[in-house]
Amino acid sequence: MSFFYVYASQIYFKYPKFYILKKYDLNMRSQSLLEKKVLKGSVSKPQILRIIISGLLILAVILIYELTKPEKSTYFSDSYSKEILSGETIYDMSSFRLLCGPGSSAKTNEYGFKIINAFKQLGYFFAGPCGEKLNIHSENNIGIILLNAYQRDNGLSESNYVNKKILQKLDTQIKKSEKRDNLFAKEFRCYNTIKDAPPNDASKNHRAFLLNLAMNAFPENLRIKNEECTNPQLWGITSCDEGSSSGKYWLGYDSNCNVITSDIVNLPYDDYTLTNTIIHEYAHILDGKIDTSDFYNISFYTSDKVSVDGWDFYKVRIDMNNNEQVKQNFFSYAEGWTNPNYPSYRTAYEDFAVSVEMYVTNGIVFRDYIKNKLPLQKKYKWIKENIFNGKEFNTGDKNYKSYISDLSTNGLGMIGIVSAGGMTELRPEYKWDYNLK
Ligand SMILES: [Zn+2]
Repeated sequence: MSFFYVYASQIYFKYPKFYILKKYDLNMRSQSLLEKKVLKGSVSKPQILRIIISGLLILAVILIYELTKPEKSTYFSDSYSKEILSGETIYDMSSFRLLCGPGSSAKTNEYGFKIINAFKQLGYFFAGPCGEKLNIHSENNIGIILLNAYQRDNGLSESNYVNKKILQKLDTQIKKSEKRDNLFAKEFRCYNTIKDAPPNDASKNHRAFLLNLAMNAFPENLRIKNEECTNPQLWGITSCDEGSSSGKYWLGYDSNCNVITSDIVNLPYDDYTLTNTIIHEYAHILDGKIDTSDFYNISFYTSDKVSVDGWDFYKVRIDMNNNEQVKQNFFSYAEGWTNPNYPSYRTAYEDFAVSVEMYVTNGIVFRDYIKNKLPLQKKYKWIKENIFNGKEFNTGDKNYKSYISDLSTNGLGMIGIVSAGGMTELRPEYKWDYNLK
């Protein structure tokens, strides 16, 4: 700039009438030209006004366009998605061969997997895609079943194809969820322990958002502490499903969080299941920190205990072969496990964890279901007072009775009373609302 200053000054002194550069700054050149024209009388003042107004109008149009143009998601910023979004190509979901029966050959590096993980981030339940409620066309291809459900939910015609129209809709919805994820992700105390997401999957921030959602259900003083981020009981969830044997949220990692191209035989954990799982696992941690013996004492004789290999087994208060008594006391899986040497004794850990999980994720169902069941009433009351300081949750489906009247497991591959996890399979509404309040 100083060079021009000196240069301009020299010109001015040399040629005082050469006033184009008299402002000493080339930025002012255009203005000077305008001044020159005005002085010469070639542009009238109303004309200047019109020029200025037109300029402002153009700026306003650009500004409005920038503010209202649909923002693109980070998730669909890859080149193949861009091709679909621009209408250059379409994706045939039938090429992604994740099937209801045997014979699947789908892999995590296929585009169909990315589409499935988009549905995952919008709250779709992955527990029973092949069941007749979601699979209304009796399809064999899970990707198509989910795609058709999405198309129905969004008023789009049902087909096997992911085209521009569908991807635009998905992109807008994912962008919205990304904004929410980015807002809350770093609130999660163990954010730094979470790995970056593998390709084709929900981001680290999305995972963190879910874990934070689960943790915020608990009162402030009972939420996860920094030193608990690496607790083995939670580590699989707070890192990358590391070492997980039952299920995974990110299927594109091996058990040491290295990216792999793996065969997909089942859908990954959905958003609800990951959230539900951390509530359950965290309840186990709380169980070890606070005195839960009064809770245990509702269905077990806490004074009658045997310990084997570090596990505590208590004498059960009821006859476990009496279905009615079981229903009065336990949701499924809450009945714990037994030891061959002590058949009338059972562990009580799951009773507490499953009951807390039900309390948070299915508060409406829990309160309704226990009306004529005294032991479960006592459990609800104990959790309400001792864990949640009186806070109750308006979660779960108030119409649960229309499809699972007594929470019995008829037709499901499990025993006892259906708990929160199992109920999702039977819900006619196939999307989770992310409500934990
Ligand atoms: Zn458990």
